[in-house]
Amino acid sequence: MRVVRCITCGKLLGDKYEEFEQRVKRGQEPKRVLDELGVKRYCCRSTIITSVDLTEEIAKFKR
Ligand SMILES: [Zn+2]
Repeated sequence: MRVVRCITCGKLLGDKYEEFEQRVKRGQEPKRVLDELGVKRYCCRSTIITSVDLTEEIAKFKR
């Protein structure tokens, strides 16, 4: 398991990160997943979003 910590506030996001990654890869909307996981601070949200490599998924949607 990856240790993901918010760069700004230091909150441990590892478990949320994994859940987020799985859900987004299943096609759920990133913003909504973060809301449901209770990640409310902007710093934590951007940490999670930038930690996940979504380039492949985004490319899929553009096709
Ligand atoms: Zn944070």
